[in-house]
Amino acid sequence: MWQQGTWDRMSGPGKRAHAIVIGASIAGLSTARVLCDFYDRVTVYDRDDLPPTPAYRAAVPQDRHVHILMARGANEFESLFGGLLEEMTAAGVAKLENRPDCIHFGAAGHVLGTGHTLRHEFTAYVPSRKQLEWQIRRRTTALPNVEIVQRDVNAPLFDGERQAVTGVLLASGGDDEFVAADLVVDASGRGTRLPAWLEQWGFARPAEQTVDVGIGYATQQLTIPNGLIAEKVVVAGVSRTQPAGLGMLYYEDDTWGLTTFTVGHLAPPQTFAQMCTVADQVLPASQAAAIRQAEPLGDIAFHRYPVSRWRRYDKLRRFPGGLIAVGDAVASFNPTYGQGMTMTALQAGHLRRLLAAGSTDLAGELNRATAKSTYPVWTMNAIGDLTLHGNDGPSPWWYRPVGALFDQFLGAAETDPVLAEWFLRRFSLLDSLYMVPPASIVGRAIWHNMSLWWAQRGAASGSTRDPDPVPGR
Ligand SMILES: Cc1cc2nc3c(=O)[nH]c(=O)nc-3n(C[C@H](O)[C@H](O)[C@H](O)COP(=O)(O)OP(=O)(O)OC[C@H]3O[C@@H](n4cnc5c(N)ncnc54)[C@H](O)[C@@H]3O)c2cc1C
Repeated sequence: MWQQGTWDRMSGPGKRAHAIVIGASIAGLSTARVLCDFYDRVTVYDRDDLPPTPAYRAAVPQDRHVHILMARGANEFESLFGGLLEEMTAAGVAKLENRPDCIHFGAAGHVLGTGHTLRHEFTAYVPSRKQLEWQIRRRTTALPNVEIVQRDVNAPLFDGERQAVTGVLLASGGDDEFVAADLVVDASGRGTRLPAWLEQWGFARPAEQTVDVGIGYATQQLTIPNGLIAEKVVVAGVSRTQPAGLGMLYYEDDTWGLTTFTVGHLAPPQTFAQMCTVADQVLPASQAAAIRQAEPLGDIAFHRYPVSRWRRYDKLRRFPGGLIAVGDAVASFNPTYGQGMTMTALQAGHLRRLLAAGSTDLAGELNRATAKSTYPVWTMNAIGDLTLHGNDGPSPWWYRPVGALFDQFLGAAETDPVLAEWFLRRFSLLDSLYMVPPASIVGRAIWHNMSLWWAQRGAASGSTRDPDPVPGR
């Protein structure tokens, strides 16, 4: 049974009185979990009707679409909400413990060779987005000093004399209602108005980094007859020549979520038949055939995601006291890479460490810590988007050679299981957030590709050279 964690719990005079969190989605709830150990009271406001069971929400339209929970994210959420993974598994969520054979992974036109024994332990969990959010919400609701209230926050209130935010103004029929707080957290998501508020209060707006990805999502829930498909996670990313991709997850209620997506502002599939056509193009025949035999449940949900956006609060010289920003309000990552929730959980970890260390510049230090963990992930995404996926946009000169090397690496990972495992762990944000291979791994990829090239050349000229001479296999 789940119990409230005990790390770094503060008590007595050092504990602050009241923290307010705007937004009760993944970022807001994770932040509230951290804050409740350092504040007497935490109030989380959300404008949405929060359902008492796992259900879709009006204010989070992305929740209908496939949400991959990275292996690192599962670990981070478990450290925030002890017992979460066990209870999700008990609720039927698939737990893939050293089961790479249950994962089909295509990236930039290459299919990773994951059907082999792993050298390191690797466990992934496959909850639906609504299941994960509900599990986290009910744990947060059960915290004795946290209250989740359905209210729309109009804006934080800024005190010019103190140069600090002192609380929030809640929207009400007449005059806004003021609620005081020592700390206000903006977890209101991608559509936050924080840059405009900063400007109103006399601060600079943050610089924004963006990548124009022009993604269109179309998602259909399905049932697939038993035995037709062995995998529980099916991912086929787009490539330079294939602007449509697909993600499919097996959910806890024995249904499947099938998301097809397009990049470069192309329209996503509009019908289930068109989704099947994408599956035919990007998946092995057996998986595509399973989808064709599926029974669609309900309507197709659509979503547009025009740009990835990183607001560089870390670059601002001045930032108000009493305020921090977390989650998509800071960085909203290309959703097809499945990183947003995991990055949010990492940020909650930064906040926990800073509060435990008694930080006197919470916003500044959190902004810098967030930037440090965001940079490698953002950069690899941008390199993929702009060099391997056919999106247009300005990029530094070195993106292209790095992208080309990465393409070579993925090519080698199709048949070299060591490289495939290395990629899977990095993609899952487990070993490091940097997707930069050490020299030994680069050497292995070059050796592997050269050997294949020699083998193909030998076969063409009738030689009998060993076609698979990769060392250490
Ligand atoms: C199509 C799509 C697919 C995605 N797929 C993945 C995936 O596979 N894996 C992954 O890890 N991530 C994925 N993401 C990202 C993921 O959804 C987010 O990173 C995650 O939800 C965390 O966001 P958040 O909590 O910061 O904001 P949101 O989830 O956007 O929540 C913001 C909350 O704030 C509330 N709110 C806003 N304004 C106010 C206000 N003024 N007053 C009160 N409440 C307010 C809203 O009601 C909402 O509940 C995807 C995103 C999209 C768009």
